[in-house]
Parts: sequence; C-alpha cells; structure tokens
Amino acid sequence: MINSSLQTLSQMLADKQISSVELTQTFLDRIDALNPEINAYVALDKERSIAQAKAADARIAAGQAAPLTGIPIAQKDIFCAKGWPTTCGSKMLAHFVAPYDAHVISQFDAAGAVNLGKTNMDEFAMGSSNETSYFGGVKNPWDFTRVPGGSSGGSAAAVAARLCAAATGTDTGGSIRQPASLCGFTGLKPTYGVVSRYGMIAFASSLDQAGPMAKSAEDCALMMNVMAGFDERDSTSLNRKKEDYTRDLNKPLQGLKIGLPKEYFAEGLDINVGKVVMDAVAEYKKLGAEIVEISLPNNGLSIPVYYVLAPAEASSNLSRYDGVRYGYRTPEYTDLMDMYCKTRAEGFGAEVKRRILVGTYVLSAGYYDAYYLKAQKIRRLIAQDFVEAFKQCDVIMGPAAPSTAFKSGEKVDDPVAMYLEDLYTIAVNLAGLPGMSVPAGFSNGLPVGLQIIGNYFDEARMLNVAHQYQQATDWHLKMPEGLA
Ligand code: GLN
Repeated sequence: MINSSLQTLSQMLADKQISSVELTQTFLDRIDALNPEINAYVALDKERSIAQAKAADARIAAGQAAPLTGIPIAQKDIFCAKGWPTTCGSKMLAHFVAPYDAHVISQFDAAGAVNLGKTNMDEFAMGSSNETSYFGGVKNPWDFTRVPGGSSGGSAAAVAARLCAAATGTDTGGSIRQPASLCGFTGLKPTYGVVSRYGMIAFASSLDQAGPMAKSAEDCALMMNVMAGFDERDSTSLNRKKEDYTRDLNKPLQGLKIGLPKEYFAEGLDINVGKVVMDAVAEYKKLGAEIVEISLPNNGLSIPVYYVLAPAEASSNLSRYDGVRYGYRTPEYTDLMDMYCKTRAEGFGAEVKRRILVGTYVLSAGYYDAYYLKAQKIRRLIAQDFVEAFKQCDVIMGPAAPSTAFKSGEKVDDPVAMYLEDLYTIAVNLAGLPGMSVPAGFSNGLPVGLQIIGNYFDEARMLNVAHQYQQATDWHLKMPEGLA
C-alpha cells in the first residue's frame, strides 16, 4: 500500500478497501519507526491528522470525494498552516504557530487531503543538502550517511522512504528537482506564477515557486490539479483558466523533439550520471522522440547571477524578522538597536547570515549597478537562451544534479561547492520556466534524476513526457531496500 499510486489509493478509499484513518495511521506508524533516524518531519500532530482522516472518511461515505480526499500529504515547513508550528527550518521561527493557512494548505484542505505533518528543510530554503536546518540534517533514505538534497530535504526523504503518499516542496533554485534527483522520485517546479505563494514564507520572491513531490508523474499531475490556480492574494499569481494536468498523460510521444543542451553535458557532470541520463534519452528515442542538439550559451552564468539576485531579495524579505512582531526575540538587551542586533545574530544560522550580507552588499549604493543591475541584465539573456532553444525543440532534457547524493558534512564548509549543485536547475528559475526531475536509474546504488524542462505553461506536456517514460520503465517504483 505504501508504494501505491495516488490513483490506486483513491480507488481503494472509494471501494472501502481501506479507510483514510487506516491509511493515515499506516503512515504515522512508519513515521514513528523511521523518523527518529531520518528526521524528515519537524512537526506532527497525530490527533489532528486522524481527525482530518475521519472527516475525509465521512466525505467519502457521503459520496462527495474529490480525487485526493483522504490522502495523507506531507507539507514542507515553509507553508503557514493554521495552528501548526511553521518554522521554515529556523530558530527565528522555532516557536511560531501560524495564524492562517497558506493557499497551498487551504487547497489541500478543500480537497479533503490529510495533513500528515510539516517537513524539515534548509533554513529559509537556503541550501542544497538540508544541512542548514536549525532542526538538524535529514538522512537520505538510500544511504543514511548521505544528504537528501535541499532545500526540500524533509519532503524528499518522506517521499523516498514512503513516510507519506506525496509531499509539497518549493523550488527557488532547484529545491524540488535536486532532492528529487538525489532521493529517486518525481518532482515538478511549475511555471512561475502558477501556484500561489500566499502564506509561503518568502526567500527570493522573483524565483520562489511551490510544486509537488511524489512517486510518479501521474501523482504529480493529481497534486497539481489541487495546487495550481489563480489566487488574488498573491500579486504574482497568474489569472489563467483552471487546467486538468492529467489530460495529456497518455498521449504517444511520436515526433516529440527533445533538445539536449551541450552545456549540460560538459565539465562538472559526473560521468556515471551523464550515462544514466543518456540511457534515458535512448529510451525516449524508442518511444518515438527525435533528438536535437541545442545550446544554452549563458548557462554558466546562472549560478553567479542567482547568487547575487537571490541573496538581494532574501536580504529584503528577511528584514521582517526583527524580534518585534513575531518570531524569536533575544532574552536580554539594552535598547532597541541592541535587541535587533542580538535577535538577528542569535536567530539566524550561518548560511542565512551569509546571504543577508551578500544581498545587502550588492544592493548598496555604489555596488548596485556593478552587481545587482548587471545580474538582472544577464538574467534576461539566460531567459532569452531558452526562447531560442524552444524554437528548435518541445522539451529540454539533461541531468537535474551534477552528481548523486553526497556525504553529509562533505560540502558544509565550502559554500561554493554547495552552490555548484544547482548548475542545471537555477537557469530554469531565473527564466521562470517549469522543470521536473524523474528517476532514471542508479549510479553506485544511488538514484539519478533526469531533468525535463518545458516551455512556459507546458506542465501538462512535461507530465505526459515523464508519464510515458514511467510506463516504459520502472525506475520510479524502486524504493530503498530495508525500508519496505
Ligand atoms: N540551493 C539553492 C539555494 O541554496 C536553491 C534553494 C531553493 O531552491 N530553495 O539557494
């Protein structure tokens, strides 16, 4: 059952083969057994989860079920959920209980899904290994000595270890796709503006986007049907017609044009990861796709550009944590300025402070033109590269991460090495495009993800492209031995 698709679980609930209470309890029992080691969840509220499951059972009995009614979902701890601790992985919010629901949370509530708990994450979503969390690292279910990726590491481990039916994540520079690659499941970062960010704690607002993390493309499509849609409370939410993301899943891929950017298969890519990705591309050829070589000439600039723009936006967004309105406040201080300084010195971790410093620097008078403005200009060039590329192909494929899961502690003291993890994901955020990672095989026993990048609003096609591959292969069904 823990391996079943959302569609199957939904059918089992409808057929009364299982109740939502039983399903929820099954996951809660697994969490009890495995979470002390894996540390995927930072907050559980079993009574509330079971109460939601009971309500879902009543709704199913009344014949009013929606597709995800009764399904237990793990929520990244970046989403405010009323009455739940909402920490964003930070000491700053360690005792914060959200007074309202994020749009994503209320969408799942309205669908009748069960909130199974809040998942661990890098502090304020800054990181690629989940090691910056105030609540400690998360273990990769495939190898407990390795990281799950970040920043959505808790959701990633929860999906991979089957500690939930599916989970939510957010992706500012790769935080859904990189952990999906390192933990061997399917994750989708939608087009910027497709999922409302209302109630989602802000990191870098021009890049942040929420998306599903699940076992398969089909599951991601069902999650998207709940998550996506216009919300007037987020000024970047796009007012588009509601879509059914499952609509194209079964289309054949005959004639699909896949672009392979030569920059994605160059220096920096682990040879074995590259081989797995090329095997996946070969599978697509069998499915009738055509391969074209393309170029994204400015991809190499995406990391430097991102690490100017994201910290700049973060430095502004994080100014709200001042010890006055909510969150942590230092216990001892002399005057207001001393209170601000101590609160922020004690409340934020090292990586967050590094970003605030960099961000404040690049925005300061005298440096703004040289760094911030220049980065904005290059961002436009990076986006333009994709416009050119999509004239030649329908989707772009490549690796999601340059290597498989690395050892815990391996990169914590080397921020630049950590930042390089995002080599293939960040440009997609800078351009506002949708991207996903799909399990494509293993290298030395560790999962490897294939990245699929689509044009704006092409999520349904990407899900189709991923689903057809998952019909032809079974990489997405594999789970860590010993955790079954
Ligand atoms: N690893 C990137 C960073 O640390 C991206 C994080 C994210 O997508 N939230 O900024």
